Amino acid sequence: MATQLERAVRNEITPEMQAVAQDEQFAPEQIREWVAEGTVVIPKNIHRQSCDAVGIGETLSTKINANIGTSQKHPEIENEIEKLRVALDSGSDAVMDLSTGGDLTSIRNTILNMSPKPVGTVPIYEMMVRSKTFDINLYLDIIRQQAEQGVDFFTIHAGIRKNHIPLIEKRLMGVVSRGGAYLVQYMRRSGNDNPLYERYDDILAICREHDVTISLGDGLRPGCINDATDEAQIEELKVLGQLAQRSRDAGVQVMIEGPGHVPLHQIQQNMELKKQYAGTTPFYVLGPLVTDLAVGYDHISGAIGGTLAAYYGASFLCYLTPREHLGLPDLEDVREGVIASRIAAHAADLARGKPGTLERNNALSRARLAFDWERQFELALDPEKARERRESATDKEGDVCSMCGEFCSMKVSHES
Ligand code: SF4
Repeated sequence: MATQLERAVRNEITPEMQAVAQDEQFAPEQIREWVAEGTVVIPKNIHRQSCDAVGIGETLSTKINANIGTSQKHPEIENEIEKLRVALDSGSDAVMDLSTGGDLTSIRNTILNMSPKPVGTVPIYEMMVRSKTFDINLYLDIIRQQAEQGVDFFTIHAGIRKNHIPLIEKRLMGVVSRGGAYLVQYMRRSGNDNPLYERYDDILAICREHDVTISLGDGLRPGCINDATDEAQIEELKVLGQLAQRSRDAGVQVMIEGPGHVPLHQIQQNMELKKQYAGTTPFYVLGPLVTDLAVGYDHISGAIGGTLAAYYGASFLCYLTPREHLGLPDLEDVREGVIASRIAAHAADLARGKPGTLERNNALSRARLAFDWERQFELALDPEKARERRESATDKEGDVCSMCGEFCSMKVSHES
């Protein structure tokens, strides 16, 4: 079966393109055109008939992803299923299963069966669990098996090259991507180049067969403010741009992953550099965190960076939780991370005038003016929290809230 990209190129409007068109308030032909040129991707494996069609691209509403998954110390699937439920209930557009503990195949199957949203993985994590050293044949077996299982998008760290290694030495934090560190170790020990780069055509063949969208991982993403926008990051980005074009030429949908840690004044520049080297390929950013100091509040630091990144062109924000850099997130961390990212995505979409955003703000303002609390909760990005805070105000008085009470400016205005 052909991929969404191949079908778009031959002028076919698929049911998935139609669904995206309806959700995003664009004509189906417009969505087809964006998929054909690679500006929009619809990650949906051919084996996942029940998965929603979610469009990701700068011209559409900004999407967000929540990472879940077991660790070696916490291999229990039950917690991760609860996190999946919380992530979806809180409005995540996609989830990534980053499991490294327990029965990985069975965990992935459970998540795929339970998620109506696209599911992504980082196949090199399974490789790390199964082998101390990199083995390209095992890696290809892993992605083939995961593609057959129904995974919708893969992070593939194919852009990091042997000639980038000297650039890492100049860094304060070195390599902070788990996949990147594993590959650098392999390249240093073997003297070989990155096998994911060298065998990229084999990876493309598997992804094309199952319509798995590739998310080109940035193994050299900056891991601290000091390393942001450095030579290592940019050199890898140039390779990612070339690989993105090779992917589209092979009929495979593709996104590019981006930083990481970036101070506020460099975010626009980072988005422009992506455009320079990778055109309109959807940009999937982790945060970015705008300071290293918000330990325990990295979801806020990430939301600040994510807002600006999406405003300047990022299409897909990977959430950060308050537990980032500190431990495996719990349920409340997942909920707070998703909501923080959704606020960032919405703020950027509103500023860019994306369909429906101003209307929703105006509807909430009208409800606020009318003291229509139920309508306000309905329109809020986190109705549950809004209701909880309102209801826990012990001295709430009728229509107004406990903030100004009888001096409520809106009540006074109504009466005057
Ligand atoms: S009491 Fe104050 S904060 Fe509460 S609704 Fe009225 S103006 Fe707003």
